[in-house]
Amino acid sequence: MKGKIVLEEHWESPDFPAMGSHDFTDPDYFAKVQERLQEYEKRIEDMDKNGIRTSILSLTQPGIEGICDKKQAIELARRMNDHVSQYFLAKHPDRFKAFAALPMQDPEAAAKELKRAVEELGFVGALINGYSNIGDENTAQYLDEPRVWPFWEEVEKLGVPVYLHPRIPLPNQQRMYQGYEGLLGSAWGFGIETATHALRLMLSGLFDQYPDLTIILGHLGEGLPFTLPRVEHRLRHQRPETHGKHKQPVTEYLRRNFYLTTSGVFRTQALIDTMLEVGSDRILFSVDYPYESMEEISSWFDQCPISETDRQKIGYKNAARLFNF
Ligand code: ZN
Repeated sequence: MKGKIVLEEHWESPDFPAMGSHDFTDPDYFAKVQERLQEYEKRIEDMDKNGIRTSILSLTQPGIEGICDKKQAIELARRMNDHVSQYFLAKHPDRFKAFAALPMQDPEAAAKELKRAVEELGFVGALINGYSNIGDENTAQYLDEPRVWPFWEEVEKLGVPVYLHPRIPLPNQQRMYQGYEGLLGSAWGFGIETATHALRLMLSGLFDQYPDLTIILGHLGEGLPFTLPRVEHRLRHQRPETHGKHKQPVTEYLRRNFYLTTSGVFRTQALIDTMLEVGSDRILFSVDYPYESMEEISSWFDQCPISETDRQKIGYKNAARLFNF
């Protein structure tokens, strides 16, 4: 299928500070990923081969969110957004768009940087890598917490979506993975972290206060289409003060305030379940390049047994509508 739009596609600048290696990742795989994160020629070649018209780029995880020093986070976010703008967007404006990297450690500064990125650099939204470290590597700020709400007010005003992307659990919350460190990242921990973070957003009442917010989740919603109906069912039996101030059932927010991408997934059964839960208007094709292969995911998607109407919606029509392309 030609003309596809993809939106969980990562890049990294060679001068981004090293954030500590994930030593559970196979070194040969990681070296190939590293090389591809920083360049655009092979990327465009791959896009051409696989019928992908536009890639929306984002700084790879843990990104700015992993910087413990607030000042450094603000300065680096600005520098990274300028870099992707000059290095990728300016050279191939017809093939690349970008999500802003933001210093969430300072929500007011993040709101300003988002406004600058959207209005001056032409970015189409932001991608946030889970929790943000504040001061040290074991301290987290989550996006539903009250000091972040002024940021959400600005996001709603700007009318752009925010992609909530995974990162690995806090170091002091990794006991459960001991002996099985391979599960910490994209194999498992990523999904659990991000699904729980998305639940925090739903339960907090954020979408009652700002009903026009749009959040994008990758990996077909990080398991939520399958698990959320049970969450809703069981929350009915929990004391109200233990699950936030939300006014709507949680599945309502999933259908109304979220889009889910196919990044990293090439499983028809999972796609069908997601379509049954949220409808094909809320699903967007994506790859998760260079961690995943454009060829593997495109060849599955182009052939999977769904209607051509749904394939067009998921492949590019929904994204074109969401981002006004
Ligand atoms: Zn990703």
